[in-house]
Amino acid sequence: MALPTFLLALSGIAKGAHSLSFDRSSCKCVPQDSCWPLTQEWQSLNQTVEGRLIVTVPLASVCHQPHLAQSQCEKLKDGWPFTQTHIPDPASFVSPLAQNGSCDPYSPQTSKCDIGNYPVYVVNASTPEHVAAALRFAKKKNIRVVVKSTGHDLLGKSSGHGSLGIWMHSFNHLSFTPKYTGVNSNYIGPAARIGPGVLSYELYEKAAKNGLRVLGGTCPTVAVAGGYTAGGGHSLLSGKYGLSADNVLEWEVVTSNGSHITATPTHNADLYWALSGGGGGVFAVTLSMTVKAFPDGPIATAGLTFEVSTSPNEDVFWSAVQAFHKQIPVFVDYGASAPYVIQGGIFSLQPLTLPDKSDEEVEDLIAPLLAELNALKVPYKLNVTTFPSFYDMFAAYYGPLPYGVVSHSEVQASRLIPRPTLLQKSDELIKVHRKIASLKEGPFWIVGNSFRVPRTPSAPNAVLPAWRDTDIHQMVVGPWNWTATWTENLAKEQALLDTVLPGLSQFSRSTYLNEGTPNQADWKEAFYGSNYGRLRKIKRVYDPDDVFYAKTGVGSDEWSADSDQRLCRI
Ligand SMILES: Cc1cc2nc3c(=O)[nH]c(=O)nc-3n(C[C@H](O)[C@H](O)[C@H](O)COP(=O)(O)OP(=O)(O)OC[C@H]3O[C@@H](n4cnc5c(N)ncnc54)[C@H](O)[C@@H]3O)c2cc1C
Repeated sequence: MALPTFLLALSGIAKGAHSLSFDRSSCKCVPQDSCWPLTQEWQSLNQTVEGRLIVTVPLASVCHQPHLAQSQCEKLKDGWPFTQTHIPDPASFVSPLAQNGSCDPYSPQTSKCDIGNYPVYVVNASTPEHVAAALRFAKKKNIRVVVKSTGHDLLGKSSGHGSLGIWMHSFNHLSFTPKYTGVNSNYIGPAARIGPGVLSYELYEKAAKNGLRVLGGTCPTVAVAGGYTAGGGHSLLSGKYGLSADNVLEWEVVTSNGSHITATPTHNADLYWALSGGGGGVFAVTLSMTVKAFPDGPIATAGLTFEVSTSPNEDVFWSAVQAFHKQIPVFVDYGASAPYVIQGGIFSLQPLTLPDKSDEEVEDLIAPLLAELNALKVPYKLNVTTFPSFYDMFAAYYGPLPYGVVSHSEVQASRLIPRPTLLQKSDELIKVHRKIASLKEGPFWIVGNSFRVPRTPSAPNAVLPAWRDTDIHQMVVGPWNWTATWTENLAKEQALLDTVLPGLSQFSRSTYLNEGTPNQADWKEAFYGSNYGRLRKIKRVYDPDDVFYAKTGVGSDEWSADSDQRLCRI
């Protein structure tokens, strides 16, 4: 599919986006290059990895000639916006910008299915040796590497043109211990060892069976030990326990030279620091992560909705939204998480979450907000429930499990909103919200993940320091409309860059690296802040030849794509 030039330039990950030319010796090899491995060399790699090398056939090839299979294609069309379609495929990923229209189920069936940003080959790794062999091969042959656990990455970091993929789906080890006795001697409580093939809902379910709870995504299918924790990892439980990266005891990884090592706060401490918050796919390949687990127990919740359609008028609706925002500091100081969405004129708190508290406590906490809504004459629906376990609460609000119901084809941008905004600038914040809600390129969902993480984690880590001063991780999501044109969809991304980010930037220049836009110009400062320099140094130690690359990942500013999408050192 031919995309308009300005939009190609916008996405930056689109084929043909750059017209830079480079000395080829500074570039990674792609299939049309003479340096690309011969068939026999791929066969040899296949033997080394015990027959687990897969030649990528893009999932949506069944929707295009010559592989057209109409009924399979129709089924794929229905499932394409949902993460569960992409998880079981070795190469597929969810980001529509990174998919770039190269081969999806909606483009004309007569158009070519191009491999685009899907890896050319994938090692379906199931042992550390497979991972090491893939990395050594890629390093020796100068090929780009892409690591995938689920393909959820919203910035498209588990995709890459002309790459060798390493698929971590089979590393699905999950075990619990009531008393950790591992190499990290600073902790003796319950712990979970989790492989990157384990999805959040599986973790929650098994943890509950062990009388425990563990931090994971609000999306039931995020890989907790994949990009989620590596990027920080916020959870409905973060108000009580911090970010997932704050709770890591050990990382078990294979580094770019094939070494199988463990990193803890005292052993390979610099790598531990970088892996815990410095971003996935750039320092090493994670085989497992051991994290703190916590005794399970009651979770008190308050779900709340109110609507513009039943409010006295639109101004009053937004006054009610403002009243909620003014209460956020009170909620989060109490250890609550307050995730919310404003979408289509409806505000939903889903839900105010208080671990180990009761109905009465959650009612007391929300009472001042309800009094304000009553004073504004804004009708609301309230549901106060205390669930016996975190799993029960999660299933009720984010189910039906295993997958939930929300589509995740989207573009998004975000900023971390600090307390002073809520105390002193809530008028301005609501003005920005109203503007976003009325953008003609919309609809946009205004999503807030509100909680306070501890000022100091139990072990130092590379979580962006701004998280420690944040009350809301404010995300703005533009759902991708597969029945609209690419031009219309990419206009949403442009609106995020032109209007949403500048609007939110008056409050903060920091962003959660896992949930920003891949086109964020200030990504180094926004995603990594003062940690960037140290992260770059650590990458030089563990990945001196830049085997790993991920767009907006540490070190990625030293690379660019040429006109054939070859990754070249600048
Ligand atoms: C539906 C949805 C809901 C989300 N909800 C939340 C949420 O509640 N909280 C939150 O914090 N984030 C959330 N996110 C963002 C999520 O944290 C990121 O998308 C994260 O990168 C997903 O990690 P993954 O391993 O599942 O995805 P992948 O796309 O497989 O990988 C993501 C990144 O990590 C790297 N990576 C993956 N596995 C490994 C590995 N084993 N070793 C080394 N690198 C690896 C990849 O190369 C890539 O750079 C959500 C995303 C989606 C799509």
